[in-house]
Amino acid sequence: MNEHNFIFGSKKRLILIAEDEYVNREILGNILMSDYDIIYAEDGNKAYELMKDNSDKLSLILLDLIMPGLSGLDLLKKVKDDNKLSNIPIIVITSDSMSEETSLSLEAADFIPKPYPRETVIKARIKRTIMLYEDRRIINYTERDILTRLYNKEYFYQYASILDTYYKDTNMDALVIDIRHFHIINDRFGMSYGDKVLKATADILKEIVKKINGIVCRKEKDTFMIYCNHQDNYSFILDELKKEDSSIIYRIGIYENVDKNTDISIRFDRAKLASDRIKTSINKNIEYYNEKMREKELYEEQLVHDFESALRNNEFKVFYQPKFNIEDNTPYLSSAEALVRWFHPSLGFISPGDFIPLFEENGLIQRLDKFVWCEVGKKLKEWKDNLGFFVPVSVNVSRIDMYEPDFINTLMDIINSNNLTTKDIYLEITESAYTSDSDQMIEIVNELRGLGFKIEMDDFGTGYSSLNMISELPIDVLKLDMVFVRNAYKKNDTKIVEFIIDIAKYLNVPTIAEGVETKEQVDSLKTLGVDIIQGYYFSKPIPDIEFEKFIIDRRNKL
Ligand code: C2E
Ligand code: CA
Ligand code: CA
Repeated sequence: MNEHNFIFGSKKRLILIAEDEYVNREILGNILMSDYDIIYAEDGNKAYELMKDNSDKLSLILLDLIMPGLSGLDLLKKVKDDNKLSNIPIIVITSDSMSEETSLSLEAADFIPKPYPRETVIKARIKRTIMLYEDRRIINYTERDILTRLYNKEYFYQYASILDTYYKDTNMDALVIDIRHFHIINDRFGMSYGDKVLKATADILKEIVKKINGIVCRKEKDTFMIYCNHQDNYSFILDELKKEDSSIIYRIGIYENVDKNTDISIRFDRAKLASDRIKTSINKNIEYYNEKMREKELYEEQLVHDFESALRNNEFKVFYQPKFNIEDNTPYLSSAEALVRWFHPSLGFISPGDFIPLFEENGLIQRLDKFVWCEVGKKLKEWKDNLGFFVPVSVNVSRIDMYEPDFINTLMDIINSNNLTTKDIYLEITESAYTSDSDQMIEIVNELRGLGFKIEMDDFGTGYSSLNMISELPIDVLKLDMVFVRNAYKKNDTKIVEFIIDIAKYLNVPTIAEGVETKEQVDSLKTLGVDIIQGYYFSKPIPDIEFEKFIIDRRNKL
């Protein structure tokens, strides 16, 4: 019973009285007015309209069976098949004993006979019906979290939207609370200790939300969510939690004064976005979702939204960045990397750094990459036909691409339809793709190599492969990440670069250095044993027309 009162804070539940006789409406209304908010309908059609308009708010309907227009029975039939409306309990008011049975068979919750019984009887029946239905909803929407006895996510979202209707004109806040390095607590002190921490946290939050007209749930693992009336300051939550155990550090992300037009789950995504910002700082454990985060979010939403039309309107262009072999005295063009660019009609040039990670998150990358590979295939054929010469071009392959069952077929189709071979297109796969799901990746890469593709391991040094794993990696070229080149010459210390080159030698594969910008760097890397250079020193990524000149130049020197 407690639960029911606290969920709605100070607000009253809403009841619809559908009854055509004025006197009866008044009597019922007066009996119920002190405990409930009431709306009235004097005929069936009006009742139906009000039900639809208030479907998420109504706790109960008192329905007279005999009314002009749409009768109570007809209304019951209509409601029975409506997903939303059938969740609202209906108590039928009737003087006709036959229709009692009919209405119960149409799933009326209960009935109240006319003339009305005593006031206390009516009140008790109504209250009991409402409680039964609300409990049924809780059970229907799934149980509570077993460990903490808090609501779980689904039910919490459901109730958050009910809270919205009760606090229509009140500003609400969405909070996401989690524990820093919870897995370490689990590892060090054991699961049962971890469970104890979660339970204690839940108990404290449960007490807190009572004071701020809110609800709380455990979303997953160590993540809790609170939805409540707006507060100016939330440091009191941290204070309360600290009293229990000051060694545990919590962080709170807050989306305050939520926009009630957005989905509940999005509101909590925003709070989470804010809490994700709290990374290293020990002193700052509360972060608010703000305009900047919002702008970034909107910007990204726009990019995702515009993706489709961008593909249609050819806004994506493939640029080529030459790679030069420096083993001989005179460097020569040995291949190129295809890099995508987006020329957006209103946003202008967008760097792949802005959209590639985003598209990797939502799967759009597969279609974009396929487009790039197709463009490269067509271009290579064109150069072969028109210039009688071309160099291999490497394309970027995202980890997600490789999960596509059609992945290898797609590549082979491009190769075959352009009369190319698997030697003409190299594949760049980042080191981190190997480390995230090594067995499956290695299997796919082996298949690709079996078909004749050369695999360049991209961004090497940032993926944290174990030395053990490196020796088994199926690769043909190792691409040293730009960061190492940059750091080496900023700090005048090439030790790490040397180390990586040693690994390449051990694996018996050539090394490419990326991001090489000066002659000094080229000379130094050459001395250290780098075979191929890609970087602004030779050329930035350029459109196909400009890259064509590099091909012609190379052809003419052969
Ligand atoms: P990446 O594969 O490591 O590509 C190399 C990046 O380094 C490119 O940035 C290139 O423009 C830049 N770069 C090359 N030489 C220099 C240099 O001397 N100095 C500096 N400062 N930068 C240099 P870009 O084109 O902005 O691409 C960024 C990332 O976006 C790429 O990193 C790659 O991960 C991704 N990407 C680009 N195109 C595609 C694509 O078609 N498919 C996929 N999946 N990813 C792509
Ligand atoms: Ca690359
Ligand atoms: Ca790279």
